[in-house]
Amino acid sequence: MKLTENIIPILLKNTLTNKKDVFISRKKDTVTMYNCGPTVYDYAHIGNLRAYVFADSLRRVFEYNGYSVKQVINITDVGHLTSDADEGEDKIESGAKREGLKVSKIIKRYTDAFLEDLRKLNINIDKIIFPKATEHIQEQIVFIQTLEEKGYTYKTADGIYFDTSLRNDYGKLGNIDTKKLKAGARIKENKEKRNFADFALWKFSPPPDKIEEKRQQEWNSPWGVGFPGWHIECSAMSMKHLGKQIDIHTGGVDHISVHHNNEIAQTESVTGKQFVNYWMHNEHITIEGQKISKSIGNTIYLRNIIDSNFSPLSLRYWFLTSHYNTRANFTWDALGGSYIALFKLHKYLIEECGAENGIINKEYQKKFQTFINDDLDTPKAIALIWDMLKDDNLSKKDKRSTMLDFDKVLGLGFSESNKKLLEMFKDKGKKLTVGKLPEEIKKLADEREKAREEKNFIKADEIRDKLKEKGYEIKDTAQGAEITVK
Ligand code: AMP
Ligand code: ZN
Repeated sequence: MKLTENIIPILLKNTLTNKKDVFISRKKDTVTMYNCGPTVYDYAHIGNLRAYVFADSLRRVFEYNGYSVKQVINITDVGHLTSDADEGEDKIESGAKREGLKVSKIIKRYTDAFLEDLRKLNINIDKIIFPKATEHIQEQIVFIQTLEEKGYTYKTADGIYFDTSLRNDYGKLGNIDTKKLKAGARIKENKEKRNFADFALWKFSPPPDKIEEKRQQEWNSPWGVGFPGWHIECSAMSMKHLGKQIDIHTGGVDHISVHHNNEIAQTESVTGKQFVNYWMHNEHITIEGQKISKSIGNTIYLRNIIDSNFSPLSLRYWFLTSHYNTRANFTWDALGGSYIALFKLHKYLIEECGAENGIINKEYQKKFQTFINDDLDTPKAIALIWDMLKDDNLSKKDKRSTMLDFDKVLGLGFSESNKKLLEMFKDKGKKLTVGKLPEEIKKLADEREKAREEKNFIKADEIRDKLKEKGYEIKDTAQGAEITVK
């Protein structure tokens, strides 16, 4: 049921209209949402994970407002080529070569790892449908046949292509100028293509004399043996699982210009109707100021974060402290700050508030709902919690109940049992490696060390107190000062 007494509209930044639109669902109480999923040839890095925490937050906002949500995240296990266009190797096949494994093993390994990452980030995967491209080959073939019957396709030596010139509105998402796309292209062009933006719907497996190794995944089709193009899976699986027209479709901003415009062109050519009402895109995560890239060697995975003694939910907290639609720069210092902040919230909940429930404070709830309904303003929602904790007009048990209510959207584990909460922070007593300490803390520790060397113990103690205030405990051992998170 929707929160009807006090309706606060949900506003969403829509890439299609380039403004914040008031959300109106297609069906009364249900929201249909498709999130472009991972290509499972490797672990998902923290940039990819932002895309799914964003989608999960969106789901939670709808649920908070009384909707039920039908959500799909596809698993791309064929057809995504290394160029992101129609040239290069299939990422899944090259992943299998890299690890000397069968494609099926690679797909399983990285799909399982992806689902595990989502679970650790407090995303309830039981509520989500995860269709695989390879399990929907027939649907994709039928989709392409319909496009063929309607005259949108043509054949080249390497596949069946979609003729984008037949759609006057091609490129409407993000107002893409296809001439500019061409100018920026680095890949070699298929000379048989009628227009630069045309894209493959079905690719033929290369003839045996042209390849060193036969593809592990290929299928018969009316056009010959081959495999589906990357974009067609999302159109076919979205239609199968969510229907011809849906409410929301999300992805990272890198998907706007090509992948999502291609999905629109295909689907709207088949149905003759608007495919998606609200297109939403998350901005990228950069690491230490740079694009996440294997060649730079700056890729960070959730496992690295866990190995460095940070709880996975501190990454979720860090994601929520910036708006999904702005770039966010990951640093270990920033993650350390989020870890401490989240730890303090849990500690407050367990040690100050106790286990007794009070009532949800209506004023704070209204503010909270206004923030999250305003295009998912999670930074403001997080700041509101801190304001509330400082507010002496609220009893501790009311604070507890209000925090638990907010956690339905934030997913920071407040609603877990106390024991579980403490387990999440089981590493709090461990020594943090100096490389992972926030810069400010490192500086204070150095200053204290210097003060001690100069036998200025008053100053050393003052710095120890300062560190304590910030949530760190410093202990002098035979090996030197040891810093632990309190
Ligand atoms: P992929 O597995 O490459 O298809 O990407 C999965 C999702 O992550 C897509 O929605 C991408 O747009 C998104 N994505 C890729 N890189 C980043 C990044 N650095 N920051 C945020 N999202 C990203
Ligand atoms: Zn997609």
